[in-house]
Amino acid sequence: MTDNIFLKIINKEIPAEIIYEDDIAIAFNDISPEAPTHILVIPKKDIKKLSDTSEDDQDLLGHLLLVVKKITSKFEIKDFRVVINNGSEAGQTVFHLHLHILAGRNFGWPPG
Ligand code: AMP
Repeated sequence: MTDNIFLKIINKEIPAEIIYEDDIAIAFNDISPEAPTHILVIPKKDIKKLSDTSEDDQDLLGHLLLVVKKITSKFEIKDFRVVINNGSEAGQTVFHLHLHILAGRNFGWPPG
């Protein structure tokens, strides 16, 4: 068992609305959506944040973006935003690397 909520989802210890899974990554609906579509894409590897990655993670990081592409293509989502919060001051609350896919409304820039 682990205290990390996303590792629990990976290990199927707690439920999630999983919409994509392969050997490297898993994607599921955000429990508290900030947009009509709000999906999280996470690696199965235990990585706490983007700044913890290294050259060894090059394929994995590319894979995560291709998963974003697969999901948005599958659901015919044309316009979307991809966000990674790195560290608590940047808004990270769950310390397992994750990409937010947000879509279905207009987004302001710069983000708040
Ligand atoms: P961040 O603030 O970038 O760390 O994003 C963490 C995200 O995880 C937030 O949008 C939360 O709503 C979401 N979240 C937390 N717990 C769960 C859960 N059990 N299932 C799905 N999403 C979750």
